[in-house]
Amino acid sequence: MSSLRFKAAEAAVSRSLDYVGKVESLKATSIYSKNVFTIAKMNDYLSKNTYKELLQLIESGSQISRDIADHIAQAMKVWALENGASHYTHWFQPLTGTTAEKHDAFFEPDGNGNAIEKFTGDSLAQQEPDASSFPNGGIRNTFEARGYTAWDPSSPAFIFETVAGKTLCIPTVFVSYTGESLDYKTPLLKATAAIDKAAIDVVQYFDRSVSKVTASLGIEQEYFLVDLSLFNARPDLQMTGRTLFGHISAKGQQLEDHYFGAIPERVLAYMVDLENESLKLGIPLKTRHNEVAPSQFECAPMFEEINLAIDHNQLLMNVMEQVAVRHNFKVLLHEKPYSGVNGSGKHNNWSLITNTGVNLLSPGKTPKNNLMFLTFFVNTIKAVFDNAELLRASIASHSNDHRLGANEAPPAIISIFLGSQLDEILEEVESARVAKKVKNEANLWHGIPKIPQLKMDNTDRNRTSPFAFTGNKFEFRAVGSSANSASPMTVLNAIVAAQLIEFKTEVDKQIKKGTKKDLALLNVVRKYIKDSKAIRFEGNGYSDEWAVEAEARGLANNKTTPKALDVYVKEGSLALFEKLGVYSRRESEARHEILLENFYKKIQIEARVIEDVVTSQIAPACFQYQNQLIENVKGLKEMGLDGAAYSSQLNLVERISKHTNLILEQVEAMRQARKTANVIEDVREKAISYDEVVKPYFDDIRYHVNKLEKIVDDKKWPLPKLRELLFLR
Ligand code: ADP
Ligand code: MG
Repeated sequence: MSSLRFKAAEAAVSRSLDYVGKVESLKATSIYSKNVFTIAKMNDYLSKNTYKELLQLIESGSQISRDIADHIAQAMKVWALENGASHYTHWFQPLTGTTAEKHDAFFEPDGNGNAIEKFTGDSLAQQEPDASSFPNGGIRNTFEARGYTAWDPSSPAFIFETVAGKTLCIPTVFVSYTGESLDYKTPLLKATAAIDKAAIDVVQYFDRSVSKVTASLGIEQEYFLVDLSLFNARPDLQMTGRTLFGHISAKGQQLEDHYFGAIPERVLAYMVDLENESLKLGIPLKTRHNEVAPSQFECAPMFEEINLAIDHNQLLMNVMEQVAVRHNFKVLLHEKPYSGVNGSGKHNNWSLITNTGVNLLSPGKTPKNNLMFLTFFVNTIKAVFDNAELLRASIASHSNDHRLGANEAPPAIISIFLGSQLDEILEEVESARVAKKVKNEANLWHGIPKIPQLKMDNTDRNRTSPFAFTGNKFEFRAVGSSANSASPMTVLNAIVAAQLIEFKTEVDKQIKKGTKKDLALLNVVRKYIKDSKAIRFEGNGYSDEWAVEAEARGLANNKTTPKALDVYVKEGSLALFEKLGVYSRRESEARHEILLENFYKKIQIEARVIEDVVTSQIAPACFQYQNQLIENVKGLKEMGLDGAAYSSQLNLVERISKHTNLILEQVEAMRQARKTANVIEDVREKAISYDEVVKPYFDDIRYHVNKLEKIVDDKKWPLPKLRELLFLR
């Protein structure tokens, strides 16, 4: 078996420059959206009337008529066939966390022995994949397994190319036959509609010409690359996305020589290829660089409307994996593939932008604009303060648990970093001194401090904060690298929507009582600044002192997923989501169950992989080396040498015995713990048992395996070592 490791290492080294010179950066403007059925292409392929109706439909989000659907399907088919597509599929985002598709050919026998290419409005608008094989949290009862996917016209169809052909992909929602959402997109669209509406209502205080507000999102994506052969020689990476064993590499990120360093050529070739493919799919990738850990990188697109940005990120993750294999790489999107070096996140940069082009989170030039800025800024802070636990739940997963609070990523405590400038401005607005000044309406504008245009450089320096304001947007940094951003963004949109609705109620009440509008706005803003103070933290989020202080402030610190998820089914959350139409109670409960199930199943798989690799690969390698040492000792004894001549060997033999016995014992104990957990009926209890009883064995076993890795003859060690995974390419 150990030969697989060495073959892999050899392969990794010898192909190091395979791709250099074979990939060229294509001109972005000539390939951008080449494989997308864009609005501009719709204009070319649709009649004037249908085109107009479609635009209205996208704008209003209303139901599409059968007739229009047929026209659009026809146009899409023509475009897709012209571009070489043979199949079409509804493309959706079930709660498995990946994307799903079921391909159908554009083809139908015509009854006369020939075939015609066919695609109807019905096939565009709706498909019926069997929902029973996707997670549904008990929503599906046994006699109604059907679910259906329905077209989302706000996200354009695209052609996905593979070596096996081209497929027209139609972004869709996925719901049960009884109408409950079974995916990430449906609730996101609902929460986005809620915030758009709530924000428009509040913007009216400042600017009546605004008729639409759009939540925007730019997602920074971190990832690791590893040589494909080395990856394939690690069953743990293959099965779970992370290494379950491995002594930390002697050189890791201590020298900080990787961050923003020169990109290795083989990696650069991958990045260029990735950018070409992404641009063709309309994903506006703009930046690429090395990250902190060895073999860790990041890419980021230009921000877009939130639903599109998330579809694009899901698609980007597909493309990253596809292109990686071409370059004999495997891309690791797991939050913590290696111990001893940083994990990966997915920063979600979020803002609200009006149809008049104003970013509501951008400080203005005039006092009036600043009051508008403060309104949205402070309402977001208040929403995060009131619902910090929901935000924490929205990013909870088994893989992200390894990263949050691991002294390299934001802690599980949600706090907000504003930067000293804005922090002081909020202090000033809140302070009595200002309050006195604005008693008189004429002095109102003196009550609002001048807010200079902020330099991003000044605001982005606290990397330890899970939720930071960075100049003209909030950046939610605690999101895991493998996550579907729809989960946190649904929550963020929903809580800010609910907050804006409440804000408007309070302001209107004051206006009704005779307070002038601007003063009423400022009064409520000031109250919110006071109320939400505890969530603001400018210091080091990684420090132990912060955990202590946060507790004193009453902030939640839900360290593990099963408990962090509790808030999803608390009365306040159920009511909030129900009121906004984001999740019905049944949907909230189902989702909670699915997330818990997903959580314990991941640990279950890891435990099985550990058991398998320890008993069938690691222990045998240790015994082999031990035998060799024993032979050696025997030989020395036979030669008549005394104990001093082989004391080191004997010592090694003993150490190998000790650690090997321990890992085998622990694996057995872990199996028993798993058995106990498996019979627990209640899914939350089961998840907690897996987390608190089964999982702790992982670290213990890893510790002893790593000791053995240090002792056993390198030639006999079966698994590629972390230094090889991180540095061979
Ligand atoms: P960083 O310094 O964190 O790398 P960047 O300025 O490069 O930040 O932006 C990171 C991401 O934020 C990009 O995807 C970018 O398009 C996005 N972004 C910039 N402005 C906004 C905005 N107003 N709303 C949402 N996302 C934005
Ligand atoms: Mg960032």
